[in-house]
Amino acid sequence: MVRVRFAPSPTGIPHIGNTRTALYNYLFAKKNQGKFILRIEDTDRDRLVPESLSKILEILKFVGINWDEGPQVGGRFGPYVQSKRLKIYQKYAQSLVKKKKAYFCFCTVKRLEKLRKAQQKSGKQPRYDRLCLGLASQTIAQKINSKTPHVIRLLIPESGLISWHDLIQGKIEFKTETIDDQIILKSDGFPTYHLGVVVDDHLMQVSHVLRGAEWISSTPKQILLYQGLKWPLPHFGHFSVILGPDKAKLSKRHGAKSALDYRDEGYLVEALVSFMVYLGWSYQDNSQLLSLKQLTKYFDLKKVQKANPIFDLSKLNYFNGKAIRTKSNQELLTLLKQFIPHNCSPALAKDIIPLIKDRLVKLSDFAALSAFFYQDIKLDKKLLIKQSKKAPAEIVTSLKSLQATYAQVNEKDWTAKELESLGRKLVSQTGWTPKELFMTLRVALTSEIATPPLFDTMQVLSKKLALKRLNHAQKIL
Ligand code: GLU
Repeated sequence: MVRVRFAPSPTGIPHIGNTRTALYNYLFAKKNQGKFILRIEDTDRDRLVPESLSKILEILKFVGINWDEGPQVGGRFGPYVQSKRLKIYQKYAQSLVKKKKAYFCFCTVKRLEKLRKAQQKSGKQPRYDRLCLGLASQTIAQKINSKTPHVIRLLIPESGLISWHDLIQGKIEFKTETIDDQIILKSDGFPTYHLGVVVDDHLMQVSHVLRGAEWISSTPKQILLYQGLKWPLPHFGHFSVILGPDKAKLSKRHGAKSALDYRDEGYLVEALVSFMVYLGWSYQDNSQLLSLKQLTKYFDLKKVQKANPIFDLSKLNYFNGKAIRTKSNQELLTLLKQFIPHNCSPALAKDIIPLIKDRLVKLSDFAALSAFFYQDIKLDKKLLIKQSKKAPAEIVTSLKSLQATYAQVNEKDWTAKELESLGRKLVSQTGWTPKELFMTLRVALTSEIATPPLFDTMQVLSKKLALKRLNHAQKIL
């Protein structure tokens, strides 16, 4: 039975690289009729960020991940929050001490600091010098009885190789002499990440530990813990690191934001999910927008690449435009709710949507693409003249004819079709080319040269506003 876990630490709001890890785990579980566990690793008390837990849950729900076991849903192996499992970790830490795979360390922060500085000065790699490893059991008992602050350290073998076959990276090995004696239980009784993760992955019967490549150097330490506790190893797989366009590790300045930030900027969940999953995985030509349900069918861990993918915002924009175009106008109206400015009524927005749908890249583009429909325009005189390059007096004459013609149209006939047919008739009368006349009309109505189709725009603009703007255009010339 495949059992995977996503184990975020509530130390900040995770960016999309981290959510990609959750997605890969979820897809792998679902593809294999397995279970997806959510576990909260909150043992680093100094780094806790209060609102991050609720954001983590919100992100998972937003992308469509339902966890089978974890906070809010429970499960056979709970609690799923590490701070509620302290006794369990303490028990295993003690058992490692008994087996001589770990030892108590009473060194003070001050001593450790001094040691580190001295080692650095002499060009050595800082590591614990095992002063407490040689303590007599009586001394240890005394110190514990007198409540001397202490930690428990893992005893790393002095030599040897730790290796594993990584499901994504292939064979990986580490020499034990490069590894420091890790603290596994802190003086406050909390486990460190390594102990917490191993104990929980074992007790929760996790079959595959799939996580980001930043954890590769942790794996040998964790393997030593599994060996010390005589537990079988799970499979390990470490996903590639997402890079920015400059090939540096993806960071805030590249757009390493959370999925919720992207949502608030007007990205649709379908686009975000496809975009994230394609960062290191491929399907066909990588351009298909895939729903989580489709992905569950197609996902294949063997196709997850070892090479580090590059974060390309234009690809997200491409998927978003595609996702927007799969929506009906009614669906878009709902999705656009928070992006429609207050001075645009829902009825007007409904008429505008079909006109700008093809040009929307993000939902937040709505305002910029549609402002002239409901906001006063500042007509650019030079731009108006440029469309025909005629003398201002001649342009005024043409605008006057347009205004007079359209003034005669009944409200009920104010349709794009009727407006276009009248416009075409005027072309021959003015002696202008259609382009000259219609671009002049477009700029007079919107003060822009790129707009939705002219006569559809004019229809939605309304007779009153169109005539008012035609009138105003003559005045500024
Ligand atoms: N708590 C770790 C994190 O914040 C989990 C790493 C792992 O998956 O083992 O990502």
